[in-house]
Amino acid sequence: MKIDFLNLKRANEPHEEAIRQAVSRVVASGWYVLGEETAAFESEFASFCGVSDCVGVANGLDALYLILRAYGISRGDEVIVPSNTFIATWLAVSQTGAHVVPVEPDEQTFNIDPERIEAAITPRTRAIIPVHLYGQPADMDRINDIARKHGLRVIEDAAQAHGAYYKGRRTGNLGDAAAFSFYPGKNLGALGDGGAVTTNDRQLAATIRKLRNYGSSVKYQHELAGLNSRLDEVQAAILRTKLPHLDAENAQRAVVASAYIDALAPSQVKLPDVAAGSNSVWHLFVVRTPDRNALQSYLTSMGVGTSVHYPTASHHQPAYADQQWPELPIADSLQSQVLSLPMAPYLTANEIKIVVGAVLEYLQ
Ligand SMILES: *Cc1c(COP(=O)(O)O)cnc(C)c1O
Repeated sequence: MKIDFLNLKRANEPHEEAIRQAVSRVVASGWYVLGEETAAFESEFASFCGVSDCVGVANGLDALYLILRAYGISRGDEVIVPSNTFIATWLAVSQTGAHVVPVEPDEQTFNIDPERIEAAITPRTRAIIPVHLYGQPADMDRINDIARKHGLRVIEDAAQAHGAYYKGRRTGNLGDAAAFSFYPGKNLGALGDGGAVTTNDRQLAATIRKLRNYGSSVKYQHELAGLNSRLDEVQAAILRTKLPHLDAENAQRAVVASAYIDALAPSQVKLPDVAAGSNSVWHLFVVRTPDRNALQSYLTSMGVGTSVHYPTASHHQPAYADQQWPELPIADSLQSQVLSLPMAPYLTANEIKIVVGAVLEYLQ
């Protein structure tokens, strides 16, 4: 039996009929961009996160970039980001002209280490972007305290953590503003690209509403040099059908995660650690082991699909080769040691057994 790392067709199967109906509704409406579906999704996702405002945008990268733009962050500014994240977190900063300042993670949670943030702050620092990596919220109380002390904005990169809780509050409601992605493989995934900004800052939301639509709130009047970054009606309608099931699907992911943890606890691999006060929505189930490549090859040979998040840290990417970076030994080590096991709400007990069986077989 072959087990895919992630099978999106299977992930969407429970929603297929509802998705078809949602798409038909949009086709029949004759209105395809910035209409009722997007407005309704924005209001539903805002209440899901517990915030006053949600602005639908084209993707997660744009959501991050638009928040930075709306806060006026630009050339000459510095923004603190994790050394270990998907490159989009860095690219959003670079697109504004600001300088990326990487900070290493805590090795228990893989989230940005608050202990190391203050040493990275300079008079040019404007914001911190904690990423809720692999589905677990970052240590937001400590990050917000540091930010308050230094007058910095806190922008959550929540692209991997839809629905996760931190001390009783959802991601998206843990900083000044948050960026979400609805890329198909995310916990809340569209059937194409999509993204959103959530915030309790009404002014910020109003600015991003203009920026995403050519800098305009009244047709053919352009107050800002904006861009075209809109969540379309088809994707919004699809997201509306899936959002009511997100908590249940995240709970199914948690069942898979605890089965993995129970079975693999006696083994050599380092398992994911969830900090007190946080829960994880298990976007990914990432183990760490020095012989990652050999383990991955073995699992492949046994028909178990895996992936690596991420095989090349951003500071080693050609896109960032023109800049000087500090020593980032944790990010360097993680890129060769992390391995993502199959993780999806649909995984059966039998499939989980096959995955852990193959891992344990390799390790003995
Ligand atoms: C997916 C992702 C993004 C970017 O989202 P897109 O919709 O693909 O642009 C940003 N940050 C993180 C951590 C992500 O995982």
